[in-house]
Amino acid sequence: MMQQNNTPVVGRFAPTPSGRLHLGNLMCAMLSWLSAKAAGGRVVLRIEDLDAARCPFMGENTKYLLDDLAWMGLEFDGEVLWQSKRTEIYDTYLEILNKKGLIYPCYCSRAELHAATAPHRNDGVPKYDRKCLYRLQNGDPPPVGRRPASRVLVPDETVDFVDGLQGEYAENLERDCSDFVVRRSDGVYAYQLAVVVDDGLSGVNEIVRGNDLLDSTPRQIYLQRLFGFATPRYYHIPLLTDAHGRRLSKREGDGCMERVRQVYPDPAPVIGALAAALGLIPSPESMALKDLIPLFDWQKLPRDAVLLPEGF
Ligand code: GLU
Repeated sequence: MMQQNNTPVVGRFAPTPSGRLHLGNLMCAMLSWLSAKAAGGRVVLRIEDLDAARCPFMGENTKYLLDDLAWMGLEFDGEVLWQSKRTEIYDTYLEILNKKGLIYPCYCSRAELHAATAPHRNDGVPKYDRKCLYRLQNGDPPPVGRRPASRVLVPDETVDFVDGLQGEYAENLERDCSDFVVRRSDGVYAYQLAVVVDDGLSGVNEIVRGNDLLDSTPRQIYLQRLFGFATPRYYHIPLLTDAHGRRLSKREGDGCMERVRQVYPDPAPVIGALAAALGLIPSPESMALKDLIPLFDWQKLPRDAVLLPEGF
């Protein structure tokens, strides 16, 4: 199967190695891989190690990550892409935004941005009040001794798209999100910019990732349009939750790969348990990833939570 315009599917898995993977991350990797492979496509692996303080290059978590993916039988196509090696590329794209007059320096501190008096979005996340934009427009001097972050200006425009699993999703960029950071004050590029540049330059046309990133997508589509990249097809997958409905985190606990691999040295029962939890097979049985390719179908997948299989 091809994408609508007859281009072969190029999927990707893009983990941030800030901790040991858990089964939810592996489920995401597995679905990205299966979706592309079932369509006869390719899948690339990108390590999102932008923040060297949290994710040192080839640090312990990254080594475990590569080993966990290989253990599961997840083979990726082409070279692994490392975001930590791509700063100059991101510089070029920041400059594109700058030339369009869309970038301004923001000196606001974390405390100011998170203050109770700051405007908040419906979901409680603080929304930028454009203090530094107005300061600039008024010609007022910036605060001394602070390095600025770079924010991109957003228009009063609604971006909508149809997610392959979650259906229609829309956000007004100005009202629901406001100007967002594309480079932090310490010079580290923000996820929103890097992800768009990397997916665009890698020719990724299918993005499978956790539902927690659904509300980042309108911002990313906005950047794609500014950079002239086509918008990929999105599938925002439900998060894997424990029996109490809590999402798994990368800290050690339920579903942590260290524990999973101690209990299950062989990946076949783990793959089968995930496949059953996702509705791809009727009940858990040991199987290899490639045996799931012909059984893969987005129609079978739940939209809401996927419960951590018993025994994990
Ligand atoms: N690096 C992100 C994470 O590990 C995922 C980014 C994406 O899939 O767009 O949560």
